[in-house]
Amino acid sequence: MTDLLATATRFAKSHLAPNAAKWARDGRMQIDALRDAAAEGLLAFQAPRDWGGHEIGFADKLKLLELFSRDSYDFAFSLTNTAGAAAHLATALPRAVAERYVPAMLKGERFGGSALSEPGAGSDFAGIKTRAMPDGDGWRLTGEKGWITNAAFGDVFITYAQTDPSQGWRGIGCFLVDGRREGFQRANAEALAGGGVIGAGGFKLDNYRVHADEVIAPPGQAFRRAMASVNQARTYVAAMCVAMVDASLDTAIAYGKSRQAFGSPLAAKQGWRWMAADIATDAEAARQLVENAAAKIIANEDAALASAHAKKFATRMAIQRISDACQLMGAAGLREEYPFLRHLASARVANYTDGSTEMQNERIAAIIVG
Ligand SMILES: Cc1cc2nc3c(=O)[nH]c(=O)nc-3n(C[C@H](O)[C@H](O)[C@H](O)COP(=O)(O)OP(=O)(O)OC[C@H]3O[C@@H](n4cnc5c(N)ncnc54)[C@H](O)[C@@H]3O)c2cc1C
Repeated sequence: MTDLLATATRFAKSHLAPNAAKWARDGRMQIDALRDAAAEGLLAFQAPRDWGGHEIGFADKLKLLELFSRDSYDFAFSLTNTAGAAAHLATALPRAVAERYVPAMLKGERFGGSALSEPGAGSDFAGIKTRAMPDGDGWRLTGEKGWITNAAFGDVFITYAQTDPSQGWRGIGCFLVDGRREGFQRANAEALAGGGVIGAGGFKLDNYRVHADEVIAPPGQAFRRAMASVNQARTYVAAMCVAMVDASLDTAIAYGKSRQAFGSPLAAKQGWRWMAADIATDAEAARQLVENAAAKIIANEDAALASAHAKKFATRMAIQRISDACQLMGAAGLREEYPFLRHLASARVANYTDGSTEMQNERIAAIIVG
């Protein structure tokens, strides 16, 4: 892992730091950046070793995503979605089927992600309308997915569809969707005022054929598995938010030491220092919540409550504290060369993905109140 982290550190310096502002201005990332990451083995961080992956553990995954998020949360989110999808396919599908996708995804020739959300259903995942109808030994999928990370340019999606609406969540199945096959049509990418680098978009499925060996999780299991894996996503999103706050505070402190006002550096003023201290305290509290959730995940314990606490606190805290760090900079904080407004937009996104703040509250209340 030391080698991979060293590579990631170099990559962040050479690719993310110089380009993150431009990508945010353009509202999209250069796909070459993901391809370059693949060439360095960075898209293979999670894939199993027998697929040529690094198969790093959860603690190391957090370190990697935190490192990238200091410069570009959006790049880190896009990367982990396609890398995570590749790793998932490698373990969930028969080898011969996975062979058609996983090597290409690890090489950055194809990109992907997970498609739960739809234009009409986000928080209410059990209410998705994309239908899967039995077709011989396989299925036919018809419907529309929206707000899917990497859908602006990717074409390999772990896709959830309803096989029997009368069964509610139990009817949901999980299927491999290949965007190069008949019945798949990409929608225009979302044009966003912030967070466009994530590549959120959608696709329509029209009688799209899924072969029997392309079922990732059958009805009855797909919803439960998605809910089980979301605890990890909530924890790494929280960690990525802490990293953005840390980076914002470091930037503000460096600036405050050199900027003079009223005959001394900003960093010498008590009011200024206290705001910096408040940012640091909240970041530390969020870090502890992340560590608590991560420890449970690593120990294979139930992390539902811990990950919901971590995500709710860290994502809300990031919006407040990145804004405060920007305040410490005065007008200069608005300049494109600084990360504050980009990080703020990313923190906004983080408040929705993998369950909104309100859904974390629902989860916490269901556990503590019943
Ligand atoms: C950049 C980006 C990338 C994304 N990537 C993916 C992806 O890769 N895959 C994927 O499947 N999805 C993805 N999403 C979608 C994301 O998961 C949804 O945005 C999220 O689930 C919330 O759904 P919604 O936006 O439809 O909001 P809605 O469900 O319409 O909710 C709107 C607001 O009402 C609140 N609300 C809803 N129900 C309740 C309730 N019962 N009580 C109180 N408040 C409630 C919500 O918390 C929210 O604040 C992405 C979203 C963004 C912005």
